[in-house]
Amino acid sequence: LNRRLAEFGTTIFAEMSALALRTGSLNLGQGFPDTDGPEEIREAAVRALRDGRGNQYPPGPGVPELRTAIAAHQQRRYGLSYNPDTEVLVTAGATEAIAAALLALLEPGDEVIALEPYYDSYAACIAMAGATRVPVTLRPREGRFRLDLDELRDAVTDRTRLLLINTPHNPTGTVLTREELSAIAALAVERDLLVITDEVYEHLVFDDAEHIPLATFPGMRERTVTISSAGKTFSFTGWKVGWVTGTPALVTAVRSAKQFLTYVSAGPFQYAVAEALALPDAYFDAFRADHQRKRDLLAKGLSAAGFEVYRPRGTYFITTDIAPFGEKDAHAFCRALPERCGVVAVPNSVFYDDPQAGRSQVRFAFCKRDDVLHEATSRLARLG
Ligand code: PMP
Ligand code: GLN
Repeated sequence: LNRRLAEFGTTIFAEMSALALRTGSLNLGQGFPDTDGPEEIREAAVRALRDGRGNQYPPGPGVPELRTAIAAHQQRRYGLSYNPDTEVLVTAGATEAIAAALLALLEPGDEVIALEPYYDSYAACIAMAGATRVPVTLRPREGRFRLDLDELRDAVTDRTRLLLINTPHNPTGTVLTREELSAIAALAVERDLLVITDEVYEHLVFDDAEHIPLATFPGMRERTVTISSAGKTFSFTGWKVGWVTGTPALVTAVRSAKQFLTYVSAGPFQYAVAEALALPDAYFDAFRADHQRKRDLLAKGLSAAGFEVYRPRGTYFITTDIAPFGEKDAHAFCRALPERCGVVAVPNSVFYDDPQAGRSQVRFAFCKRDDVLHEATSRLARLG
């Protein structure tokens, strides 16, 4: 393994899911739903397979039906207009979109500002591109993880090439506010920075929170690569269909990298996701309401079990603090949890550069069946 990747080892999601399998524990670690997405969309994939649509290499940018559906979705939900032929690219999940965008846009030695705690592939892909990550830490205040705008401003240097933003944010569940996003946008324009924004949880926002794409702010459309994925929005994480929207120059750049990573993305699923994106608003509303209810169920159980709970306004995840148990080491806590009560969770500490920051934070996923959440919280109640 080369020096660029040596520090990363095995991703925490693989480690914790293997632990869940080995111990027969309930897996609230890795963020994937334990119920598949809509039957009619599964049928659409079967139909595509059977009718021979996408069984041979599909077009590099993605099948036209899907690119058109992605553009229509951005227009319908956010009033963002993208040309499906030149401004949309289909990728193998958001993971490939992140990798291809970073590999395409960074020069060795560039600095990338990323919100910390960060999704693990960000750090690895920045490293593979030979660039340097500069974390700006989200910190809990009055129950919500917040961005310190002065810290963000101070992190920009002459070597900063781009801002890597994620909202709704994994693992904290924070949804950046209009004020925070507006300040990020103003800074990007002022310092002429590119922005990659990972919005895979765009449809998972709760209460009165609103997902506002960064590309909608003044001066942002021309400098922003927006990333999303069907995995989260339609509960098909195994299909690995993601996408990128941006200007022709930015999308062409990302495509240049993508063509040598996977060449194209799997064909038949693209047709099914095109149909999914055209589902009526009722689908998206029910999806959001269902997850909000699951969040409430798990948050209540975690509080009752003694965790300090940071109530998320988005994503699949609840970040907690284990300090009330007199424990400080999230990784050790998560390794011991299956033995103690048959539940698997993820330590947020691995998503920070500074091993002390986030040391006692543990993340639980609530994208699981109600009976699983009930059982998990009753098991966790034995901890105290
Ligand atoms: N970004 C974030 C913030 C995520 O949580 C995930 C994980 N699921 C991804 C990207 C990767 O998405 P995909 O499964 O579509 O590759
Ligand atoms: N995004 C999911 C999570 O944060 C899982 C993705 C993965 O396993 N790489 O848990």
